Amino acid sequence: MKEKWFDISPRLRAIGEEAMEMIRPQLAEIERITQYQQLKMLKAFQHANVSESCFAPSTGYGYGDRGREVLDRIYAEMLDTEDALVRQHFASGTHTLTVALFGVLRPGDTMLCVTGTPYDTLHGVIGLGKESSGSLKEFGIRYEQVDLRKDGTVDLEGIRQALGGKPKMVYIQRSRGYSLRPTLTNREIREIAELTHSLSPDTIVMLDNCYGEYVEMEAPGKWVDLMAGSLIKNPGGGIAPTGGYIAGRHDLVEACSYRLTTPGTGKEIGCTLGLNREMFLGTYLAPMVTAEALKTAVFAAAAAQLSGFEASPRFDEPRGDIIQAILLGNEERLIRFCQGIQAASPIDSFVVPEPWDMPGYDSKVIMAAGAFTLGSSIELSADAPLREPFAVWMQGSLSFVTGKTAMLQALSRVEG
Ligand SMILES: *Cc1c(COP(=O)(O)O)cnc(C)c1O
Repeated sequence: MKEKWFDISPRLRAIGEEAMEMIRPQLAEIERITQYQQLKMLKAFQHANVSESCFAPSTGYGYGDRGREVLDRIYAEMLDTEDALVRQHFASGTHTLTVALFGVLRPGDTMLCVTGTPYDTLHGVIGLGKESSGSLKEFGIRYEQVDLRKDGTVDLEGIRQALGGKPKMVYIQRSRGYSLRPTLTNREIREIAELTHSLSPDTIVMLDNCYGEYVEMEAPGKWVDLMAGSLIKNPGGGIAPTGGYIAGRHDLVEACSYRLTTPGTGKEIGCTLGLNREMFLGTYLAPMVTAEALKTAVFAAAAAQLSGFEASPRFDEPRGDIIQAILLGNEERLIRFCQGIQAASPIDSFVVPEPWDMPGYDSKVIMAAGAFTLGSSIELSADAPLREPFAVWMQGSLSFVTGKTAMLQALSRVEG
């Protein structure tokens, strides 16, 4: 690294080198998983007979858009599901999850969330707290919840009891959002799914898989009935400029496609304009890009720990997603850290982020994001609500080298 390019203190430079030594076994494990996922991807492209004609733009109704159909097949193979619906028409991860929920739930059904309170943006969708018009609740869909245990782990006994009510859906959120509970790994997801299927075979197990794609060896499609995620996170590889995916059992994916477009037309319509090539390219690169983000997270944890801060997860803990939280202890450090990340970004590096009153939050939040795609969080980004426990949540980096450097620069600023 060129000494003068980035503001990294001598102490952090040394910590950086020590961290690299520390995380060798984790880096090797990430390489092992990536090798498998990347070759599985190549095979999926070959099985689906991807050809250049898949990239041809369609307009209007988009009938017979071959690329769209082929991409669906690739996701189904990667996620080990019967079917998939991959579309640029999904405006966000929340929209994708919303289409899945409205796609399969009907008035009188119960959605049972078994991982505590779901991600903030879903509260309005479900109809939690403040009444929001158009919510599932307004359409007569009941919501029940099994909280996580005090230590943040899954309450299997609580789930067992709640399954007595034979809910239509068991809903699992893999990633942690702005909390410090452990991320679920495949092990817990499988346990919940198997328990549900054995006690209540008609219950649909649905997974919010955001940030979890290609992090572990196995894909959750083996266990869950339906899952959804965002293409501006892991599976779009930093190239897909928008979109989301739903994957799972064929009948359920079809029901979701009826909700996205119309009953009857489902997957058959929705033109792709000129976006297919980017959707394919991003999808293809996703295992590799996810690995860069994961390595950055593991390095961040190690460097933070060596700097005297608590990291969650710790560098050597098992991971089910690409999110890394660092407990910096006070407001000033959070601000400095996020400003350091921003200054190390490829886009808007000259911008100095400030805390602001973000709608829906009860404290100020500071965010660092210098990304090619607005809101993309497979690119390096960091958010910190300025409140207890004074932690920053960071994720991404298209490249480990730059992610690592951003980390050291941010920690140098924290040091003062
Ligand atoms: C990102 C995310 C979502 C969807 O978020 P959008 O900002 O709408 O893309 C939902 N659940 C979890 C756990 C997430 O991390």
